[in-house]
Amino acid sequence: MPDELLSRLQHFHTDAFPACQETFQSLVNDGQHPTTLFIGCSDSRVAPYLLNGAGPGELFLVRNVGGFVPPFDGSAGYHGAAAAIEFAVLSLSVQRIVVCGHSHCGAIRALYGDAPAEAHWGWGKRPCCPSPTLGPRYCAAQNSGQSFCSSNA
Ligand SMILES: [Zn+2]
Repeated sequence: MPDELLSRLQHFHTDAFPACQETFQSLVNDGQHPTTLFIGCSDSRVAPYLLNGAGPGELFLVRNVGGFVPPFDGSAGYHGAAAAIEFAVLSLSVQRIVVCGHSHCGAIRALYGDAPAEAHWGWGKRPCCPSPTLGPRYCAAQNSGQSFCSSNA
């Protein structure tokens, strides 16, 4: 049985790539200069290039479950989303940042209790942090199931 994804890749090489080869070659020779940082959910139904009518080199993408933007915490941990945002702003000098939410998001649904019990990588926990002024206390309270107001009293 032929691999459908492999067939599509071969189709791209033979049919689509020749029409845009010059664009890709320019992106190789001159580097990327995207003007927009697009932050969105990993959901397969979210299609940033289709939504924006963009082509190769136009969008710098950050995607994760829920399209969450982590707060700055200053630790030496692994901060993929934060590093990508910093790279887009400081090195690529993007002109705009789009944070794209979408309907029927499983990550958002999980925030309200629909995550499988086996989920242990945090996608069923509340995102950190909606407000930099509330800071880590808000996240700790949310992830422990408390309301911020009761933990803040
Ligand atoms: Zn989503």
